[in-house]
Amino acid sequence: PQGASVSKFAELISAQPNEVIKRLFMLGQVLTLTQSMSDELIELVADDMGRKVRVVSPEEEFAVVYHDSDDDLKPRPPVVTVMGHVDHGKTSLLDAIRDTGVAQGEAGGITQHIGASVVSIDGRQITFIDTPGHEAFTAMRARGAQVTDIIVLVVAADDGVMPQTIEAINHARAAGVPIVVAVNKIDKPGANPDRVRQELVSYEVVPEEWGGTNMFVEVSAKKRLHIDDLLETILLQADVLELRANPDALASGFVIEANLDKGRGPVATVLIQRGTLKPGDSLVAGTSYGRVRALVDPRGTHVDAAGPADPVEILGLNSVPVAGDEFRVFEDERDARKLAEERALRERLAAQDAKSHMSLDDLFGRI
Ligand code: GDP
Ligand code: MG
Repeated sequence: PQGASVSKFAELISAQPNEVIKRLFMLGQVLTLTQSMSDELIELVADDMGRKVRVVSPEEEFAVVYHDSDDDLKPRPPVVTVMGHVDHGKTSLLDAIRDTGVAQGEAGGITQHIGASVVSIDGRQITFIDTPGHEAFTAMRARGAQVTDIIVLVVAADDGVMPQTIEAINHARAAGVPIVVAVNKIDKPGANPDRVRQELVSYEVVPEEWGGTNMFVEVSAKKRLHIDDLLETILLQADVLELRANPDALASGFVIEANLDKGRGPVATVLIQRGTLKPGDSLVAGTSYGRVRALVDPRGTHVDAAGPADPVEILGLNSVPVAGDEFRVFEDERDARKLAEERALRERLAAQDAKSHMSLDDLFGRI
């Protein structure tokens, strides 16, 4: 625990809170039950009481490094985010992609809104994150969530490069994610796809046919033109990236959307990055934890398992996590619970700390 309160500390080392307060007093520290103990104090008192503790810093706790050998890594589908200026056709394009993907894939199924969708083309899967928007994307990245492999930059052929187009290019660059350009609205009379190419060159987004590294596709989301070309281009870009993950591990990944459903309780859509998630698994997502009661795919179907690059809804969490939260499955349910509770405590302490920063000096000053 980092900076645990006196009562939490007592609980963690299975001691009487009064005993802890007494020991603290003997060390010259006057603390009440709800006040927080520094890491040094925690180690000192624990030692004094014959307990062995290891104070784990948040950085250390979050920096979980997974070691997968080359043999463990299997090809995985790409995860794609659509970005671009307002009204250039992001939503329309996603709709067109879903229609095409559904028509191409297995029979029927209306896509539910879970914050991500999956399409299949030529028997290969592509995962689309539906609604990150630019702010959500930045917020996710700020929390350390790198969820997307490829950004599809939508630029309207009758409007050209606009402020949010440039913003999207900057996001992609900061995240080190390749850009596939979808020049949209080519059905419009004023459409000028070549002008879009020229404008983008100033931002170092250069078409392959001009000697650059960016793949361009001219589409019309509205008229459903060349959508399959776009999907195939995304797969080509994915091939270049050689995306791989270990499917045979305890699952981990990120929350991409979460809400409280009246009937179903807390529901989180997660994107799995490593391992395979199954009903019955115990997991932590931010400060939430629970046992997976059910997994629901973007078609609304209950599934037995979800692997790398699959988006899936999780039912069974005790509270609603935040988009961008990391999730991780634990072998032991108690470990999941403990980590979630420690994080929640840390959050509360940080909030308290920010509200009223009370030091011992303040305390003695008042006496
Ligand atoms: P978003 O703000 O980027 O999500 O853009 P929308 O998908 O909401 O589209 C904005 C407007 O452009 C809507 O009126 C769409 O019908 C229209 N639109 C989108 N794609 C096309 C297209 O390929 N051709 C034409 N003519 N209009 C389009
Ligand atoms: Mg939209």
